[in-house]
Amino acid sequence: MEQKFCQSCGMPLTDNDKGINADGSRNDDYCNYCYMNGRFTQDFTMEQMIEHCARFTDDINKMRIHLSSHKSRYYVSAWRYTN
Ligand SMILES: [Zn+2]
Repeated sequence: MEQKFCQSCGMPLTDNDKGINADGSRNDDYCNYCYMNGRFTQDFTMEQMIEHCARFTDDINKMRIHLSSHKSRYYVSAWRYTN
């Protein structure tokens, strides 16, 4: 099975973590912390995001590096230009 990652924060996506579309279906591109009810959760800060993601991985340091390396690209592009 292909492992998907949230295109906003980079966390691994499982069926339970997937974002929610406006019609209630699951969104395959974003987690439910980044994307809920068809909207991006704009008030979710990067620090909260890291703490959130850290709960879903045994390799916290790797995730922090992953997040920081993708921060400028994914974080900005996904949240600023999609809406
Ligand atoms: Zn996310």
